[in-house]
Amino acid sequence: MFSDSVLNEIRSRADIVDVIGRYVTLKKSGQGYQGLCPFHTEKTPSFHVHPLKQVYRCFGSCSKGGNVFTFLMEHEGISFPEAVRRLAKDVGVKIEEEKSFIRQPVKPLSEIQQRALAALEWAAKYFHHLLTQDKNYAFALKYIEKRGLSPKSIEKFRLGVSPKGWDTLIQMMGKRGFKWEELLAAGLVVPKEDSKYQGYDRFRERLMFPITDKNGAVVGFGARALKEGDEPKYLNSPDTPLFNKSKILYGLFENQRDIRLKSEALVVEGYMDVVGLFEAGVQNAIAPMGTALTPEHCRELKTFTNKVVTVFDPDAAGISAWHRSMPLFLENGLFAKDVTLPGGLDPDEFVKKEGPERFFELCDQAPQQVTKYLKEIAAKGVLGEKDRAKYIQELTPILIASRRLPDKGAMLWDDVSRLLNLSFEAIQKLTQDAQFRLSKPSTPSEKPIARPTVKPGAKASRRQKFPLDWEFFRAALGAPEKFFKFPKSDWVGFIKDPELESLLVTVWDTQDVSQMGKVLESLASTHSCPEVLAAVTESLMNEVSQAKVDPQLFPEVAKRISERKQKAQIQGLANQVRLSQRLGDSEEQLKLLEQLKNIRMGTPSTPPKA
Ligand SMILES: [Zn+2]
Repeated sequence: MFSDSVLNEIRSRADIVDVIGRYVTLKKSGQGYQGLCPFHTEKTPSFHVHPLKQVYRCFGSCSKGGNVFTFLMEHEGISFPEAVRRLAKDVGVKIEEEKSFIRQPVKPLSEIQQRALAALEWAAKYFHHLLTQDKNYAFALKYIEKRGLSPKSIEKFRLGVSPKGWDTLIQMMGKRGFKWEELLAAGLVVPKEDSKYQGYDRFRERLMFPITDKNGAVVGFGARALKEGDEPKYLNSPDTPLFNKSKILYGLFENQRDIRLKSEALVVEGYMDVVGLFEAGVQNAIAPMGTALTPEHCRELKTFTNKVVTVFDPDAAGISAWHRSMPLFLENGLFAKDVTLPGGLDPDEFVKKEGPERFFELCDQAPQQVTKYLKEIAAKGVLGEKDRAKYIQELTPILIASRRLPDKGAMLWDDVSRLLNLSFEAIQKLTQDAQFRLSKPSTPSEKPIARPTVKPGAKASRRQKFPLDWEFFRAALGAPEKFFKFPKSDWVGFIKDPELESLLVTVWDTQDVSQMGKVLESLASTHSCPEVLAAVTESLMNEVSQAKVDPQLFPEVAKRISERKQKAQIQGLANQVRLSQRLGDSEEQLKLLEQLKNIRMGTPSTPPKA
């Protein structure tokens, strides 16, 4: 996995003209460079490189375009990570991951691992001792008491405080015979480069939460700042072979008894919530370690229970978190409910104020996640195209996963069809297409950045699948002024390739050619889908190549998109007519038929004539 800053650093140092120049003889031409395309055979040069925008594009038969990374991927037949590593080496950028000892152990891993585990256990005891016995750290105990935590929770979760000073822990542990690389493997220290000192304590004067694996062994720490202005507020151990955030759930070991007894786990946002709830008598909560929930988390949970209740903070982040968790739980066979606590309180605050009984009551009465979500949509009434498109996109993975429900998702499909005005055939197609996209090969460890959506040399299938959409995209980039005047409501919701649609929305929203250029430049440097790159680089090359998209293309393609919209509206209304027929609502039926007539005659559908 590469951080954005590493990628940007490589990009800024590796000049695309130099890199491509190693493989292709380039000649200056106008503002750019030109040469024979390395990706197809040709006699006259149609391959352009733009030094300022750092993109290339072939205007010959292959139409390949992209950035410095995709050039290497394509030319050398290597993966995105390989291309990044190769360029990084060339330009002397060190890749974060590969510096640490963890990936390149100096000793056999298992031996260090064992010592690292011992180090973590020792550190947990030491931190706990400082908190409970050392008068110098009374301020930490005071903070804990202020949060309403008693010795019961302090003991259960083995809370502690890390010492003052830059290397107090390192000194202490050195005396106990722990070696530097063992502390490093334990994630307890931060190495310092280009210095005579090896490094310093990762956690200094913080409230320490030992993180245990499901057998109770300490594998890492969560740490909360105690001093005003100490950033970040929450700091976790780095991922190590022992501590994998995408697998570990805080509280699973400590609260396993009640999770089994109640046959239900509460999923909350952070470790403070888990401990706060425990103190108040709610002892079946767990929390991910500052990451989104993963399939691995679900598998861990499932060894204890298949029932979960999400209780996230009632803010935008919390809402988005439970929305995102829906397909994941369904997919992994977990039955999930969601609780939104009243009064804008987080779990810790609520349980302190209202008590555990009221809290459990809310959990019992909580609606199924999916039901709750559909109700949210229904409450919005008639959906605009933008909302509709958004919900379709969000519901697609849920619809796919719903096949695991006892009724194979039949009820859900029915509701979605009604709410979003989609036919069953459309839903079926949507889920099939999405599944196809989801099942595309990708290396699991590279997933979070998800840049290479298509492997080099893969067939241009997206373009073949939705030819009109891609033509629209190309035409829009070729005639932005015309595109900006084409109302969003005339096309959003009617582009079949959802990623393309969201790219188009981003471009349209700029409403400005030079702003659009900036958006496209950033797309060209981060994307690796060949079709997107081909269209984007074509537009970026406008100044350095004569080949231009015919501006007359746009009105023609836009007309075909409008026809598609009209057809979809007719279909949607016809569905509603059928539904009102079934419900015997003749007044509604008449209104709908009137609207249908108007659309067919080409007059605007809204407002319907009174
Ligand atoms: Zn070419």
